Amino acid sequence: MDLEYDREHIWHPYTSALNPLKCIGIESAEGVYLKTTDGKRLIDGMSSWWCAVHGYNVPELNKAAEEQIKKMSHVMFGGITHEPAIGLTKRLLGMRPDMNWVFYSDSGSVSVEVALKMAVQYQHAAGTPEKCKIVTIRSGYHGDTWHAMSVCDPTTGMHSLFARQLPQQIFAESPKVRFDEEWREEDLDEITEIVKKNRETVAAIILEPIVQGAGGMRFYHPNYLKGVERLCRENGLLMICDEIAAWFGRAGKNFASEYADVHPDIICVGKALTGGYMTLAATMCTDKVARVISGGEAGCFMHGPTFMANPLACAIACASIDLYKERNYIERNKQIETILRNKLSKAREYKTVADVRTLGAIGVIEMKENVDMGRLQAFFVERGVWIRPFGKLIYVMPPYIMKDSELDKLTDVMLEAAKM
Ligand SMILES: *Cc1c(COP(=O)(O)O)cnc(C)c1O
Repeated sequence: MDLEYDREHIWHPYTSALNPLKCIGIESAEGVYLKTTDGKRLIDGMSSWWCAVHGYNVPELNKAAEEQIKKMSHVMFGGITHEPAIGLTKRLLGMRPDMNWVFYSDSGSVSVEVALKMAVQYQHAAGTPEKCKIVTIRSGYHGDTWHAMSVCDPTTGMHSLFARQLPQQIFAESPKVRFDEEWREEDLDEITEIVKKNRETVAAIILEPIVQGAGGMRFYHPNYLKGVERLCRENGLLMICDEIAAWFGRAGKNFASEYADVHPDIICVGKALTGGYMTLAATMCTDKVARVISGGEAGCFMHGPTFMANPLACAIACASIDLYKERNYIERNKQIETILRNKLSKAREYKTVADVRTLGAIGVIEMKENVDMGRLQAFFVERGVWIRPFGKLIYVMPPYIMKDSELDKLTDVMLEAAKM
C-alpha cells in the first residue's frame, strides 16, 4: 500500500498536511478484527466511530447489498420511490411510533442541517418567523457542516476560526448532574432562564439525549432531558434529539431519549443505521411538524439531496435493523456495560486519571492531561487493538458482537495506556 502517497495527498479527519500522524493501512476486516497491510490483526474498539455495531464482513448485510446491487444501486428519489426506502421507513417508525415522517440524507451532519431547517421552516409556516435561532448545550457535537458546526461546543468546535461566517446560536452550560448521580433540579436553572429570555427568537432546542459524544463523552441525567422537553412545550420551541451516535442500543436503549421518556418533535439518526456499510442518515419528525411546514408559504420542505434514500444504503439498513432486533443486542450491551464498568473502574486509582465512566457499550477513561496521540496510537497497534483517543479521552465503543475475552484484552490495554 502506497502510504507515502497517502501521506502526501490525502486529507484525513482533523489532520495536518504538514506533519500528519502515521496512518495504518487496513486491508480487510472481519468480525471485530481489522487486518493491517503488514499482517497484524487489531481488535476494533471504535466500531469505526459508532457505526460497525455488527462487526465487519457481516454475511446478512453482505447478502442484502448483493441482492440490492443486482436490482439497482441508485435511482433518483424525486417522483420515484422503491421498496428499500418503504421497508426502512416502516422499520424506523416501528421503532419510534411517536414519529410519522422520515427524511433521508447521506450523512449525520446533513440530517442535522435538515432538522434545523425543519425547525426554522416550521416556525415560519406557523406564523412566527422571528423564531429562528437555536438553543443548545455546551460539550455537544452535531457534525462539521456550517449550521451543524454552529451548535457544536464553541471551544472544541473551534468557533473562533469561523466566527465571522458562523450563525450565532445560544448556548447553555452543559448539564452538571451525571447520569448515575442524584438529580438536582437547579441543573435546569440556567437553560430555563435562557429559554425564557429568548423565547421570541428561538425556533428549537437541539441536543444529544443523555450521551454527549464527540464533544466530551459525557453522560447526563435523564431528568435534564425531561426538563428540556417541558421547556420546549411551555415556550413554543421544537425539541430536536440528535440520536446519531447513541441510538441503536449503544447507550443501552433503542434510543437514548427513552431513558427520559421524552417525545421530541424531530429525531436524527445515522452512524449504526447501515452497520457501517454505507453512508446514510435520517431525520424523523411528527405529523404536526410535517403538516405545518407543508401548509406554509413554500408548500413543501426545501431540501432534496441527490443521493436521498439511496436504495443500496436503505436495503442494507433494513438488514441492519432486522439483525439488531433478532440478536437482542440490548441484553448483550448490559453485559458489555458490566464488563467495561468492572474492568475500567480500576483506573480511578491511577494518578494520571481524572474520571472513569461507562454507559451501555461505551467505556471512557478521562485523563488529567491531553494524551500523546501519536505515541498511544503506536502503543495500541503494537498491543493488537484499535483505539483512537482524542484530547484527554481514551474511550471505546466496541462492536456488539465482541466476545468477553476480546473485551478483556481491549480493556487491559486501555488500563495499561492510562497508566503511562
Ligand atoms: C457523528 C455525529 C454527527 C455527524 O455525523 P456525520 O455522519 O459524521 O456527518 C452528528 N451528531 C452526532 C451526535 C454525531 O455523533
